Amino acid sequence: MDRRVFLAGTGITSGLAALGWNVAPLGAEGLVAARRYQVGSATVHVLSDGFISIGPEMLSGVTPEEFATLLDNAHIATDAHPSAVNAFLVEIGDRKILVDAGTGEIFGPTLGKLPSVMNALGFDPAAIDTVVFTHLHGDHIGGTVSQAGNPYLNATLRVASADIDFWTSEEIQAQAPDAFKAAFDLARSALDGFGERIEPFGAEETAIAPGLSTMALPGHTVGHTGLMLESDGDVLLIAADIIHVPAVQLAMPAVTIGFDTDQDLARETRVKTMDMVAADRIMMGGSHISLPGLGYLETAGDGYRWTAARHQYG
Ligand SMILES: [Zn+2]
Repeated sequence: MDRRVFLAGTGITSGLAALGWNVAPLGAEGLVAARRYQVGSATVHVLSDGFISIGPEMLSGVTPEEFATLLDNAHIATDAHPSAVNAFLVEIGDRKILVDAGTGEIFGPTLGKLPSVMNALGFDPAAIDTVVFTHLHGDHIGGTVSQAGNPYLNATLRVASADIDFWTSEEIQAQAPDAFKAAFDLARSALDGFGERIEPFGAEETAIAPGLSTMALPGHTVGHTGLMLESDGDVLLIAADIIHVPAVQLAMPAVTIGFDTDQDLARETRVKTMDMVAADRIMMGGSHISLPGLGYLETAGDGYRWTAARHQYG
């Protein structure tokens, strides 16, 4: 296989070890970190699972000095970027579609908040009819691999067949750097948790629910997929992991992260997608963009400016 696929595997092991642990405790316990938006006649809940600290050693294409300056520009007074981890719950008619499932119990104390957030909002996991995995990374699937088992008892899982093929391949796992090998086992466990209730999709646009369809955004993983929601003239692209470190990658979109399976394609897809969002003036959501997690992009200099979505009162 292409060596570049695991280019990032070398040299970031220490970063991986730090991921999720090199963090301060989340304050304000009990705060329900979520936002609700109407998109046409659909309702989109952005549900926070917490945050993950990402340091410059995880990134390619930015110096530690540039990284520090960009965090300072964004008024982030820590050495590592506190990147949000969000899931999205989309209600369309009586359908309840959960887009990604948070980290579950596999990361540190700043994460794993999704179950309590859903509980506080009155969402029973058993009432979710569809779970979509934008890709098979731990921060998106961990919530289905808890000690108690997969809580989404009645949901059909929709996920790209390309990601299933990649993350269940023993051949690819054997060639992966040690730091990545466990990720393959986790992906298999998450898929096993849905048993026969898995309906994979290909790279072509695929309907998940009325007005909600897939958009292939390959690079971060081979099957990384966004979701386009169109309802009564409103449009939202849930662009998943198109960006991980907004304070850095908005200004420097060429910067990639160690988890990108194909760094070049991830960069190309990021720029193409963000250019489209900016040109079409549509709303975008990101898995790693701080609450409200939805907003708008404009091109600015060599990068982009993010405007968070206005709070919807009432
Ligand atoms: Zn992610």
